Amino acid sequence: MSRTTVATIHLDALRANLARIRALSAGAKVMAVVKADGYGHGLERVARALADADAFGVAAIADGQRLRAAGHAQRIVVLSGPDEANDLAEMRRLRLDAVIHHPSQIEWLEADTDPRPLAVWLKLDTGMHRLGFAPEAAQAAHARLRAVGSVEDEIVLMTHFAASDEFDNGATAAQIARFNAVTAALPGPRCLANSAAILGWPAARGDWVRAGGLLYGLSVVAGTSGSELGFAPAMSLSTRLIAINPLRRGECVGYAGTWECPEDMTMGVIAIGYGDGYPRSAASGTPVLIGGERAEIIGRVSMDLITLDLRNAPSARIGDRVLLWGRGLAVEEIAGRAGTISYDLTCGMTKRVLFVED
Ligand SMILES: *Cc1c(COP(=O)(O)O)cnc(C)c1O
Repeated sequence: MSRTTVATIHLDALRANLARIRALSAGAKVMAVVKADGYGHGLERVARALADADAFGVAAIADGQRLRAAGHAQRIVVLSGPDEANDLAEMRRLRLDAVIHHPSQIEWLEADTDPRPLAVWLKLDTGMHRLGFAPEAAQAAHARLRAVGSVEDEIVLMTHFAASDEFDNGATAAQIARFNAVTAALPGPRCLANSAAILGWPAARGDWVRAGGLLYGLSVVAGTSGSELGFAPAMSLSTRLIAINPLRRGECVGYAGTWECPEDMTMGVIAIGYGDGYPRSAASGTPVLIGGERAEIIGRVSMDLITLDLRNAPSARIGDRVLLWGRGLAVEEIAGRAGTISYDLTCGMTKRVLFVED
C-alpha cells in the first residue's frame, strides 16, 4: 500500500542555507547542529548534505556513533557532554568533543586514567541559567581541565543565549559582555552564537558559530519566516485529498462539531493528522496549499484526517497533493496557529511519514 503523507527533504536548501550562514558568519567556523535527528529531517541525510560543515553538534553520544558510522571525520560536539563517567570511554573511542558544564564532569575526568585524548568545550552560564559554570567559577574550572593530562590543550569557551531572537533585548548584550569579561584572561577559541545570534548579534560571532534552525530554513524570530530571512525551507510536508463532499448551511464538521458551515459549501478531507505529527492544536483557519490555492482547516484535526474548507479551492480534485508546510507555505505560520515554534513541528514527524529527498 502506498503511503500518501510525505516529508520531502530539499538537500539543495540545506546546502544553500549552510553557504548563507557561512557568508553571515564572517570567517567563523560553523558547527551544524543536527540534534533531534537533524531537527526531524533525518540525521544521516542532513549530515550528508552538510558534509563540509566544520563540526556537527549532537545531543547524544548515539548520534555521534551514527555520524562516525556514516564516515564523517570532522569534530562532533556532544552539546551536554558526558552524562556519566562511563560515557568518557565511548567519547574518546569515537573522538567526540565533550561540552563540560558541571563540576561533576570535571571530577569524572580527574578520576579517569584513560590516556586517549579528549577535546573539551567549557560552557559558561552568562545568563541563560540552564547549563554552565557561573562566571565566578570559570577560571577554576578552566584550570582544573588544563591539569587533566588527557584533555587537549585547546579548550573552546562557549555560552548559550536565552533571548537572542529578540534583536533589541538588552539581555543578550549583557550576556555577551559577561562572556567577554569572564573569558578575557583565558586562552582558546570562542563560541557564542546560535541561529538568531548569527542574524542579529554580530558581536557574538566569535571563532565558531552553532547553527541549528537556519540550516533547515527555520526561523525563531517572532513574526518572520525563514524564507523572509533569505533561507530556504528544507522540509515540505504533503499529503493527498481523499474526499470532497457537499455540506449544507448549519452542518457541523468533525469531532465535537466545532466548525459550522455558514452556507451550502464544499469541504475536503486530507490523509494526515496528529498521528503523523501534524499539530492537533492547529485551529480552524490554519492554511494548507492545494495547487497554489490556500484553503483553510475547519474543525478539529483528527489522528488520521483533516477537514478543509474548499470554497477557496474550486479546482481541487480527489488525489490532488496538498501542502501542509514547506515551499510556498511557511512552517512558521502553521506553528503560530498551533501555539508553538517551527522546530517543534519538524521534530515531531512520526514513523508513518515517508521521507523522500529531492
Ligand atoms: C540547539 C542548540 C543550538 C542551535 O540553536 P538554533 O537556535 O537552532 O540555531 C546551539 N547551541 C546549543 C547549545 C544548542 O543546544
